[in-house]
Amino acid sequence: MKLGRQMALGDTLMSLDAAGMADVLIVGAGPAGSHLAYLLAEQGLQVTIIDKQAFPRAKVCGGGLSRKAMDLLGFDLGPALHQTIGAAILNYRNRDAIIREMQPAAACTVVRSEFDKLLLDRACAKGARFLAETAFVDATETADAVSVITSRGVLRCRLLLAADGAASAVRNKLFGKDLVAYVPAMEAMLWPAEGMLERFGARALFDFDGMPGGYGWIFPKRDHFNVGVYSPFGGASLRRHLDRFTAAYASLQQPLRVEYQGYIIPLENRRKLFQRGRVWLLGDAAGLAEALFGEGIYFALKSASIAARAIAADGAGCLIRADSALYSQLLRRELLPELRAAAWMARLIYRFPKLAFSHLVLNQRINHDFAGLISGQMGYRHCLFKTAVGFPRWLLPSKAPERGVKSSY
Ligand SMILES: Cc1cc2nc3c(=O)[nH]c(=O)nc-3n(C[C@H](O)[C@H](O)[C@H](O)COP(=O)(O)OP(=O)(O)OC[C@H]3O[C@@H](n4cnc5c(N)ncnc54)[C@H](O)[C@@H]3O)c2cc1C
Repeated sequence: MKLGRQMALGDTLMSLDAAGMADVLIVGAGPAGSHLAYLLAEQGLQVTIIDKQAFPRAKVCGGGLSRKAMDLLGFDLGPALHQTIGAAILNYRNRDAIIREMQPAAACTVVRSEFDKLLLDRACAKGARFLAETAFVDATETADAVSVITSRGVLRCRLLLAADGAASAVRNKLFGKDLVAYVPAMEAMLWPAEGMLERFGARALFDFDGMPGGYGWIFPKRDHFNVGVYSPFGGASLRRHLDRFTAAYASLQQPLRVEYQGYIIPLENRRKLFQRGRVWLLGDAAGLAEALFGEGIYFALKSASIAARAIAADGAGCLIRADSALYSQLLRRELLPELRAAAWMARLIYRFPKLAFSHLVLNQRINHDFAGLISGQMGYRHCLFKTAVGFPRWLLPSKAPERGVKSSY
């Protein structure tokens, strides 16, 4: 259904030029979309961003924000920051826990409804126009523009930037449903009994037997825990694994309230296809989460900054021509090798979790490098290389905690 332009577009009319054309239309106001909207508005482009939901909106996510993601954003998160993470508790089935201090803090936690609203507000303050409750439906490309059918009418733009998440409608419509491979993950928001959050303090917990072939996490927020399980190999019965994981921890017993939710994490772009003509894919829509921890926010933000750089480097030429390949080239050069190394590390660790836990995770030198992955002080390729060349050494017994001892968490 085509609505009259005035009626359909409301506020966004201001972001269109005389021909009724936005420079860029971004679909999805998650971290990728809103950060990109901010960067492009800063370049002086006319940016319209649409989302099928009204904001603030909930998003299934652990809300673990790595230091490298915070550094990439480069501004104070203010009250959207729930807990600074200065240490990681690493254990196996709640036994043999070691605490890895991480100074400066390697991460923080956020609640996505607040964090995403903050990023969106920041983009709008820079000049981007936001249309809430406007879903992408379909698009057709002509020589100099893209006509986008939304649930509220037709929009036209020079460049359509798809940041509409793991189940991206733009990707499914314009690139095919099989482009991205993904796995499920499940989490619970758990409001614990009194005193339990204080017991955790500024620590996040990673259990390398949280589920078969994967891990479990406990991330503290201001008033609740986010508890979840994930495996890069996928798997069924996630709720059962999550219940088993939750039951292993004293801090999570007799909670005041628990809310369960699950979604998918996209781990691979099978054809390494990130753009076609005037349509580019970003973040989860492009299949850019990493396999080791299921971290996706940093890679969503990074793909946005790469897209903004590609547009700037082209002197906005890619708005005029449809054949710019710079975005894909930069992704292939800067992001894909890291994601590939993360996938290898995930295979190494989760295929042999007991061995990997006792010889890699408990090894101070190696878990120091793992902490560097989260903070951004170390790249995945470098970490994988160091782990591989140290192979004979890390088979030697490491200074580990007394084996079999249950942790107090
Ligand atoms: C259980 C779980 C736990 C996770 N925990 C973490 C974690 O702790 N740390 C981390 O870094 N990553 C985590 N991730 C991954 C992370 O959530 C994603 O990688 C990240 O949100 C990707 O950001 P994005 O901007 O690409 O997409 P999204 O954040 O998914 O945003 C997409 C936006 O597009 C909108 N949209 C969708 N369809 C349409 C449409 N047709 N039209 C218009 N708008 C549309 C949506 O409403 C949404 O606002 C987790 C994922 C899961 C499933």
